[in-house]
Amino acid sequence: MPLSPLPSPAIRWLLNRHSDSFVFGQVQVKRDGVRFCLRSTADRDRPEELLRDLPVSGLRQLAQFDELGEFRPLKSAPDLRTGWVCFALGEEQLELALDQLYPGGVVDSWSSRVDPPPVTQYRDFVGRQTGMYRVAQNLSAADVSEVIRASCGVRQCLKRRRWTVEGVEGDSPDAKSEIACLEPCAVFLECARRAARLAQDEPAAMGLVEQDRAVLEAALQQVLSAPAPGVRAGDLGHPLNPRRIGLLLEKLHRTSGAPSSAPSGGAQKHLGTG
Ligand code: SF4
Repeated sequence: MPLSPLPSPAIRWLLNRHSDSFVFGQVQVKRDGVRFCLRSTADRDRPEELLRDLPVSGLRQLAQFDELGEFRPLKSAPDLRTGWVCFALGEEQLELALDQLYPGGVVDSWSSRVDPPPVTQYRDFVGRQTGMYRVAQNLSAADVSEVIRASCGVRQCLKRRRWTVEGVEGDSPDAKSEIACLEPCAVFLECARRAARLAQDEPAAMGLVEQDRAVLEAALQQVLSAPAPGVRAGDLGHPLNPRRIGLLLEKLHRTSGAPSSAPSGGAQKHLGTG
């Protein structure tokens, strides 16, 4: 009879940190004897018989698309589908299940338990970029801070950002979730590239007075609170992309001198412009 694999140190560490019921990203995990019951946190009070039974092997497909059938390029975006329940038999299956929903999430969180965590900082990350993403090297720390607020805020991503750039702290432990982000992701990098390209464009003279600016900001905040359906997270060329709107809000704050109202989840230190 083949030996079953031992639970990994990563899943043992996660389970030791929690009681028999805990939340990982947008997933409620509950121990049920030797099994673990997983479901969306939005369904935590729904009777099990009203939920679709999914095998562990079905979770990867579930995580691929949102409720509207749009591809989810960022698995840590807070739009995991609801209406399902999955039973994992034992700790190994639980790790597999969480990995289908949040690829690398358990291991990255386990890896980041040490101080300092094994991150790739922004400068090192973009320093390795070639081709079209090289332009992201041009962003100042203040620029990167704006991109972080536009791209990594709790409305866009549930991972706890551990990497940083000069003068910007990582996310606080209780701001989003315990799933660690150890280096900038592809969606963030595209947002940084877009910000760097926009900075090279000639600004259009708009002649806005302060009240115009306030109207514009309120309208943008409204769009951010109810994002347009069908806009892909990585499509920064779409004018209704939430990250693109976030960048514009940051620009409005910068030009007005008002503090940003869109914290990413981490405390911001004083930033210079260099
Ligand atoms: S870089 Fe930002 S958006 Fe990307 S996974 Fe990390 S925290 Fe989330």
